[in-house]
Amino acid sequence: MNIETMETHSFDVLVLGSGGAGLRAAVEAAAGGGLSVAVIGKSLLGKAHTVMAEGGAAASIGNVDSRDSWQTHFYDTMKSGHYINNFRTVEVFAKEAPARVLELEQWGAVFDRTPEGLIMQRAFGGHSFRRLAHIGDRTGMELLRTLQYKAISMDISIFQEVTITRLLMDKDRIAGAFGYYRADGHFVVFKAKAVVLATGGWGKVYKVTSNSWESTGDGAAMAYRIGAELQDMEMVQFHPTGMVWPPGVAGLLVTEGVRGEGGILYNSEKERFMLRYDPERQELSTRDVVARSIFKEVQAGRGTPHGGAWLDISHKGADFIKRKLPGMYEQLLTLGDVDITKSPFEVAPTCHYTMGGVKAHAETCATNIPGLFAAGEVACGLHGANRLGGNSLADILVFGRRAGIAARDFAGSRKGDVNIPESQIEEEVTRVLEPFNRPNGENPYTIHEELQAVMSTHAGIVRDQQTLEEGLEKVLKLQERAKNMGAQGGRTYNPGWHAVFDVENMLTLSELIIRGALERKESRGAHWRTDYPDELEEMGKWNFVHEYSPDGDRIKRVPVPTMPLALQEICAKPLAPGREASDNPNQRKGASS
Ligand SMILES: Cc1cc2nc3c(=O)[nH]c(=O)nc-3n(C[C@H](O)[C@H](O)[C@H](O)COP(=O)(O)OP(=O)(O)OC[C@H]3O[C@@H](n4cnc5c(N)ncnc54)[C@H](O)[C@@H]3O)c2cc1C
Repeated sequence: MNIETMETHSFDVLVLGSGGAGLRAAVEAAAGGGLSVAVIGKSLLGKAHTVMAEGGAAASIGNVDSRDSWQTHFYDTMKSGHYINNFRTVEVFAKEAPARVLELEQWGAVFDRTPEGLIMQRAFGGHSFRRLAHIGDRTGMELLRTLQYKAISMDISIFQEVTITRLLMDKDRIAGAFGYYRADGHFVVFKAKAVVLATGGWGKVYKVTSNSWESTGDGAAMAYRIGAELQDMEMVQFHPTGMVWPPGVAGLLVTEGVRGEGGILYNSEKERFMLRYDPERQELSTRDVVARSIFKEVQAGRGTPHGGAWLDISHKGADFIKRKLPGMYEQLLTLGDVDITKSPFEVAPTCHYTMGGVKAHAETCATNIPGLFAAGEVACGLHGANRLGGNSLADILVFGRRAGIAARDFAGSRKGDVNIPESQIEEEVTRVLEPFNRPNGENPYTIHEELQAVMSTHAGIVRDQQTLEEGLEKVLKLQERAKNMGAQGGRTYNPGWHAVFDVENMLTLSELIIRGALERKESRGAHWRTDYPDELEEMGKWNFVHEYSPDGDRIKRVPVPTMPLALQEICAKPLAPGREASDNPNQRKGASS
């Protein structure tokens, strides 16, 4: 392979990922003019995982409930994250989310409207007020469409269907990325002064998942290998309401918008069981609480025929449902053969979101690798132990923009040429071609399937020491077998070959999820351990940070940053700011505590 003739591009700012975070970052990086910017995605433009988002983007605009404020959004997010979030990240987020949503509207996003013509906002679990700006139940599609049109109207180079396999370094600084075109497998090198990592999450490590095929955690795994710190990897969100039946669509999301618009959960005894688990917020409790409640009902023998709970919104009437939840109506009718305007349907928890990820600075999204910035689901800091619905779409707007600004500044001030040692590229070419030397090697799809089974059984919604230890052993064994993964045929249109790299990344991150879960000897948010069922004050003082070393993963405990007094006061309130005191003691205790 002649490196000199390899397709090579140079940019000031390289954005990896064309989901919401990546596109928002690219728009901002290019906004000042004068710098060259490129965006790379594994799929086609407009098809990134973000397109699947349904319910809305959370921002305290206060169009529907004027009592809302950034302080309330801050309070709700910290509380739902069980206080291991980075307070400064949350503060920046809560303050800036309204401006980012309004800006999106100015760029052409057609939000649902209030009768007065303002952006409509809907209720969602764990939010004190109706806060989610939405477009029916297709918010992600409109968000992505808007950002995509904005990006293509600017001087931004776009590379579609390119998979990046390695981040390249110039000594201790980021220098670019290596990848291949998915269509014909030809290699491509990108040199860059600054790189924004916006590659999304890794929900595909679980068997039942709402995530798209892209969510294999490539960015986080690649960043880890070059020394980036990853944080709170044990925190994986299981959304309470995925489809259960038929098996081919199990895990597909039923948006929280169904409950936000009045949907009610029942067990097989027709009991509205959320009244027992969270009398105050009921169906609109936080996701960790609702998912666990459904799990407990099934364990107690009160599940539906296929192991879930009934969700019913039929009482709202056909007109309302078809107007507010058109996607859900169609999805359940065509895929599940259920008319939700007439009958309840089965739902059960599905892996939905990865709260852990690349540790990113609250204001700049900088990682510990100079020149590398992280935004969106790949990053960690905002959500703590449990993400609130709607906070991700707002996250990708707020921190996509901030990462774009910081990358632009870094690239603009970086002196000298970017030098990538040829040895790095040679090594990667050899590594990426190796599977073809093992045409009869392990099948990556088999390893993936086994990994999903291991993770679902050993590091799923419920965990304990023994199950986790057994799971770790199994993942390590799969890692050994994976060294022998093979690919047949050539590089053109070869999904089996692509799967090898996806699986390697998922194996890396699965190990970290389990190691983090073993380290966190308590239950907190999405992390539920039956051998440590309580949330422990001592454990709440730490984030767990993973560092790559040739001898294996190193975990260090890093103190959760201490909040300044003013923010502590917001959080110390028994109720979200803006609300009247209630006589209900459950409300004072806090719904998700
Ligand atoms: C069904 C569903 C509904 C949801 N609904 C909501 C909602 O209503 N509100 C809300 O706030 N959140 C919601 N979420 C969560 C939210 O959609 C995601 O967290 C968010 O869109 C992530 O955006 P992102 O830009 O960080 O990453 P993504 O949208 O996942 O984009 C990642 C990008 O990186 C690219 N990429 C990955 N690996 C590579 C590689 N190796 N080389 C090159 N490119 C790569 C991908 O191709 C893609 O372009 C939902 C999620 C799902 C699955």
